[in-house]
Amino acid sequence: MTPDSAGYVQVLLPLRLDWAPYYSVPEGMQVRRGSRVRVKFAGKEYSGIVLGTPSPQRPEGIKTILGIEGPEPLVDISTAELDFWKFVAEYYLCTEGEVYRMAYPATATRQELLRAARRAKAEAAPPKKSSRKKAAAAEEALQGDEAPGGGKNLQLTAAQMTACGGIQAAFKAGKPALLQGVTGSGKTEIYIALAKGTLASGRNVLMLVPEIALEKQLEDRIAEYFGPKLLTFHSGETAVHRAKVIEALRSRDTEGYFLLGTRSALFLPHCNLGLVIVDEEHDSSYKQQDPAPRYNGRDCAAVLALQHKARLLLGSATPSLESLYNVDSGRYAKVGLNEKYYGGSEPQTVIIDTSAERKKNGMVGSFSRKLIALIEGRLSKGEQVLLLRARRAYATAMQCSECGEIAKCPRCNVPLSYHKDSNTLECHYCGFREPLRPCAKCGGVLQGIGSGTQKIEEEAAALFPQARIARLDSDATPLQRAEIVKDFAEGRTDILVGTQILTKGLDFPDLTLVAAIGTDALLGRMDFRADEKTVQLLSQFRGRAGRRSGGGMLAIQTAQKEHPVFRMMEGGMSGSTLDENILAERKTFGFPPFCRMINVNMKDSNEARLEVLSRALMKEISETIPGAVGPYSPQIDKISNNFLKTIRLNLPRDKKTPAIKARLYGIIRKFEESRKWQGHTGIDVDPS
Ligand code: ADP
Ligand code: ZN
Repeated sequence: MTPDSAGYVQVLLPLRLDWAPYYSVPEGMQVRRGSRVRVKFAGKEYSGIVLGTPSPQRPEGIKTILGIEGPEPLVDISTAELDFWKFVAEYYLCTEGEVYRMAYPATATRQELLRAARRAKAEAAPPKKSSRKKAAAAEEALQGDEAPGGGKNLQLTAAQMTACGGIQAAFKAGKPALLQGVTGSGKTEIYIALAKGTLASGRNVLMLVPEIALEKQLEDRIAEYFGPKLLTFHSGETAVHRAKVIEALRSRDTEGYFLLGTRSALFLPHCNLGLVIVDEEHDSSYKQQDPAPRYNGRDCAAVLALQHKARLLLGSATPSLESLYNVDSGRYAKVGLNEKYYGGSEPQTVIIDTSAERKKNGMVGSFSRKLIALIEGRLSKGEQVLLLRARRAYATAMQCSECGEIAKCPRCNVPLSYHKDSNTLECHYCGFREPLRPCAKCGGVLQGIGSGTQKIEEEAAALFPQARIARLDSDATPLQRAEIVKDFAEGRTDILVGTQILTKGLDFPDLTLVAAIGTDALLGRMDFRADEKTVQLLSQFRGRAGRRSGGGMLAIQTAQKEHPVFRMMEGGMSGSTLDENILAERKTFGFPPFCRMINVNMKDSNEARLEVLSRALMKEISETIPGAVGPYSPQIDKISNNFLKTIRLNLPRDKKTPAIKARLYGIIRKFEESRKWQGHTGIDVDPS
């Protein structure tokens, strides 16, 4: 299409539409593939994207483009972006419009975007006099250890250098690298070294971290090396900040950028990427759950890297079985790093058998006497203790002391948990809340079963009256969280009780004992990944202990002492043996990574209708696609007044899979339309 020919073009809309409508281009308007235009669709105005498919004939009932959106280059979508969206839509079975809607959320008005773009442009311009002084001062401060290429100097250890060499060799051989480095080995330093090389060669770097790990600590550490080249981006960023980053990406075209972000940073208009790093690649928060596209950030990073002909580096202490499978099959090269920067070995792991302890009166509430002694020992030396309990609340369920009835959420099929500070019953799925009440069935008194973090905190306070105790879980606001972490890091608290959010990233110099309480619940989940995830969680948690001083310890309380996960953690089995065993099991049962799993999730407020329609859909799917299972009720089969059913497909990993997926998508969309059941199904490809 020549830029100035008035004609008819297809426009991508930020909607769940499987087709793109045509619009006519007014005389004199210049549009090309990627131009953003304002159009009307079904009575509403949208910002759409011109796709490069002109039609010579006037399609029927066509409307005219209302106008061009914003100034270039802010709003022009690149071909690379459009190609990437197309991949995401095809792979994750959604529409390109849904990907577009996520990539460019329309939360800012046009004026706001314009203002931001102007501000960003001004900031990117050479510094004026006053700020130039500041820059000079900053430069001076760095002068002492300035390395060629700018920024702080980096001295890799011999082990890190070897690992770096291994990664570069993999890259040379055209393979992505998987860096398996124990916690505290300084994986970040390796990323930094490789990123420096990439920037020096004139190409850009994207580094992804899990949502929760995007801490100021990490940002500051990386900023020391890259200064103003470092850009950060996480989800939940305002459209204004997004516009700023986009402008910065473009204005750094020549100067280079290091973008540190969460999974949504994949959808920025990257240019000239030379290296894509995915840290903590096993982390399940790389997977977007709702809404579509339900993409996996790690896997999409691999595709983005491929599109840009960039290198791909995955890093983790406990790689995902998907990545290990890619190593086994020769697609990825694995590079190990087993030396901790501050020396020492992995903290010792002790398993405390709670069922044995219970028999000999060795339990005091949730704590075994053995664990109490361990904690006392640490506290007496002025060291700190971290206690992991995967469930927040005081009691994780409430049961009637008279009739045994469990108090349930009126909207979800889950027990209500009890929060003591507010004296309320709460649903962790839909947010329902009510004051503590008697049993709805018989009026009896409700009693707590299952101790959550609040209860553990209370028990710890009674057991260790001299200790300063705090709790960290998602009940705390982000601001409170930061405060709690800081207090612990600076030694103002002795014991910190909390959920999974304790396991990530942070460095606590005086922490030497970490203990996991109630680990059996982690393994009891109806999830084929339960073992893998428990190992990852406990390994990360263990990595928090004794980072500087050595002599750290992980204590695990469990009633399943012989479970392979705990045997491995204790050292009775190597990590790679456990990985191999789990992989062998997955192979036998045909689970990922040996197949491609797809869940078709259905919901309806009308249980009977869900029954009928889910079975009808199953029938249609299994007529053309073999191997579908269901519809079955998921472990939690009602959330927010919606009943839930799932159909699961395990497709072979072969060349035919994309075609089968496309067929599946077609069947579902046709079914939704013909039964007027739109919005009741969600397709989850590679569920996490
Ligand atoms: P990992 O990410 O592998 O778990 P971390 O980066 O969290 O390791 O921890 C390693 C610690 O050692 C950090 O405090 C880091 O600053 C430090 N460190 C690692 N390598 C180096 C190095 N080459 N030079 C200086 N400090 C390093
Ligand atoms: Zn609920």
